[in-house]
Amino acid sequence: MQSEIPASLKFQPARRVLVTGAAGFLGSHLCDLLVHLGHDVIGVDSFITGSRENLTQLKDHRHFKLVQADLAESLPPDLATGRFDRIYHMASPASPVGYVRHQVNTLKVNSFATVWLLELAQRCKARILVASTSECYGDPLEHPQTESYWGHVNPVGMRSMYDESKRFMEAATMAYHRERHVDTRIVRIFNTYGPRLALDDGRVVPAFIKQSLTNAPMTVQGDGAQTRSLCYVDDEIRGLMLLMESEGYHLPINIGNPEEVTMLQLAHEIRELAGSTSTITHTPLPPDDPRQRCPNITLAKEKLNWQPTVPRREGLKTTINYYRKRLA
Ligand code: UDP
Repeated sequence: MQSEIPASLKFQPARRVLVTGAAGFLGSHLCDLLVHLGHDVIGVDSFITGSRENLTQLKDHRHFKLVQADLAESLPPDLATGRFDRIYHMASPASPVGYVRHQVNTLKVNSFATVWLLELAQRCKARILVASTSECYGDPLEHPQTESYWGHVNPVGMRSMYDESKRFMEAATMAYHRERHVDTRIVRIFNTYGPRLALDDGRVVPAFIKQSLTNAPMTVQGDGAQTRSLCYVDDEIRGLMLLMESEGYHLPINIGNPEEVTMLQLAHEIRELAGSTSTITHTPLPPDDPRQRCPNITLAKEKLNWQPTVPRREGLKTTINYYRKRLA
């Protein structure tokens, strides 16, 4: 782990925690930290985009149990009647390639499954955190994005199954909080990277790393002037857990790294760190690709005392080393 675990997370009582999307990139890192801190974790995954390999280290761990289920279709009876103290709803295809490939599943897991999990949280008096996204801001006209910005989203665009279902997720979560007093938290997650991102899901960091490690041309989409702000996974997971364990704030909070980089700059940076001889080639920009994205994290600093600590170069070096070993 690259960043310190805050003391407020180390001294929580042991809890029974449900993590949906446990075999995904964020879900698996979250399960690791929860188990490390002594909690009992039930992980659920459909394995549509998640991978069993992400959970190898937890296989047979006495504080971890894995359930295979597709929550887009139903909540399995033993979960629906289970007792949990905390629920993290992390399940959803999350890369543009992933959610376009699984459009209906994406829509259902962020809408139906969110409602079922909110009902479960109400019934067993669990606190629930739902994983929303910076995609709620769409192609933002306000920059950087503060939580009070309502966004600029194409409701029928090529990302709409993701953007709009996450916006529904937020609305549902607020409704269950306001009307039924469910103890809810909403995180808007910005681009996150680190070990275990699927190499072939089209996301920019694994794509550039794979290309640079194999000395293949690096595919910068468009002119590469579009920006993203990249958060190292350890920082992101700590932010999520601090939000879960914070008191009294139920509106969405941005958790991401406010250091912005253009995609062309990122390609150069990864190529240099990997010691690669790849060329850079320009490919067409996918439809509805946001031109800029950067979180304002004032609220996270104020409410959670959280900010990212891993510099991009350090996080990228660790990630490149991870993939170098995997590809070898
Ligand atoms: N991108 C790129 N080359 C790639 C993959 C992505 O230039 O091989 C760009 C993409 O156009 C977007 C940015 O990188 O502007 C981030 O894309 P990603 O799919 O990682 O996630 P997004 O932030 O769009 O959800």
